[in-house]
Amino acid sequence: MRKRVTFRDDVRALRYVVELLNTKDPIYRETREELLKLTTMWMATKRSGQELLNQLWEGNAHARRLASQIQGDWKALLIPSDTPPSHASFPIRVTLNGGFDIGITPSPRSQQHQASRKEIARFHFLTLLAHPQSEMLGGPCAWKPCSRYYIMRTRRQTVYCSRKCANKGSAADATRRMLDKARQGKLARANKALAMWAEDSTAVSWKVFVSSREIDITPSFLTRAANQGELRPPRTRHERRKGGRTK
Ligand SMILES: [Zn+2]
Repeated sequence: MRKRVTFRDDVRALRYVVELLNTKDPIYRETREELLKLTTMWMATKRSGQELLNQLWEGNAHARRLASQIQGDWKALLIPSDTPPSHASFPIRVTLNGGFDIGITPSPRSQQHQASRKEIARFHFLTLLAHPQSEMLGGPCAWKPCSRYYIMRTRRQTVYCSRKCANKGSAADATRRMLDKARQGKLARANKALAMWAEDSTAVSWKVFVSSREIDITPSFLTRAANQGELRPPRTRHERRKGGRTK
C-alpha cells in the first residue's frame, strides 16, 4: 500500500512560526530570540536541514548538542486514522495499513520539568524544519524598518514582505543612488581642487583651499572622505611639491 506523508493544517503551523518570529511582545522575547537564531542558521545553509546538521556535527560541543537535540527531539505515536487533524499535536502524519496513522511531533525532552524557553523555541523550529512548505518562509523583509518574516505568496516573490514595503524599499534605493551620485560629483570636484592646490604655492591648508573653492564642500566632508580613502591628499609639504610644479 502507498504510504502517505501528510502535514495537516500546514499553513496554520507555518503561520504560527512566522508570528513568533515577528512578535514584539516581551513575554516571548527569549523564545523569539532563540527561534530567530536557529532560523537564521538554517536559512544560511540555503534551508538545507542536512547541511545544517553537518555543520553542527562538525562544530564545538554546544553545536553538537544542538544537532543531537534537533535529530532526537521527536516523538511518534500510533493514532487511529480517523482522529481529526491537529497541527498542534501531530504536524506530520504517516498513514499506515489497518486504519492507523503514525503521528510525529517535535518533542523537546521536557516531560520531567516545565519546558524551557529554548525548548519551546526548538519545538517551533523543528516544526519549520519538517514543514513541507518551509521554503515559503520569507524574510527578514528588505525594507529595514519592517524586517518582518512572511509567507511568500509565490516562489518568486522578492525580498520584500509586501507591495507597500517594496515601494518604500525601491524609493529608498533611488534616494540612495541619488545621494551616491551627488557624493561622487563632490569627490570629483574636490579632487580637481586638490590638484590645483598641489600646483599652487598658497600657504593655506588643502582643506581650506578646497572648501573655499567649492561652496558645498565643507572641511569636515573632506576629513571624512580622506579618512575613508576616497580622497588622497598629499601628506606632507614635500609630497605636495613633488606632485606639483616646483618654484
Ligand atoms: Zn516589509
